[in-house]
Amino acid sequence: MDREWLEARLADFPLYAYAFITTDELRFADRVRYICAHECPMYGTSWACPPAVGTVEECKAKVMAFREGLMIATITEVSDIANIEETLATRADHEAITRQVTAIVAERSPRTLTLSTESCAHCARCTYPDAPCRHPERMYPCVESYGILVTDLAERHGIDFLAGGNLVTWFSLILFE
Ligand code: SF4
Repeated sequence: MDREWLEARLADFPLYAYAFITTDELRFADRVRYICAHECPMYGTSWACPPAVGTVEECKAKVMAFREGLMIATITEVSDIANIEETLATRADHEAITRQVTAIVAERSPRTLTLSTESCAHCARCTYPDAPCRHPERMYPCVESYGILVTDLAERHGIDFLAGGNLVTWFSLILFE
């Protein structure tokens, strides 16, 4: 990947931060998956979430088929971070940016794997588990659903994700060849 070219394209987006990463620096942990299973209402309701995405080992194998990638982060200020509805509403803009950046990366990479935030919200009702995903090319599993410690990665790259106050930070990972 021509990083200079990609960085020039990234300048068009309101990113809080971005970092080029290598997959060998990613840390996978079953305890992340444990949180999905025990604390997330989306668990078992979407093709983008566990258990549909496979075991952590299977997810790791999919990720390690790539050598490098790009982590992007956005920040949005809300009036009250405790207001879950308002906080989650900021996700749509992040997802739109993730989609556009993925398309740019795909211009120079024959294969990409994008992991993003929360669960997939493309369809009013997910087909899981009765029928295949309607839009597999647009469905980005959640980074955490793969067992990846995204905060660890952010820390390693000096990205301050505990912005504090009423700031909401979202991360995506776009792997490429
Ligand atoms: S694109 Fe539709 S069917 Fe596929 S995971 Fe998302 S909501 Fe479910």
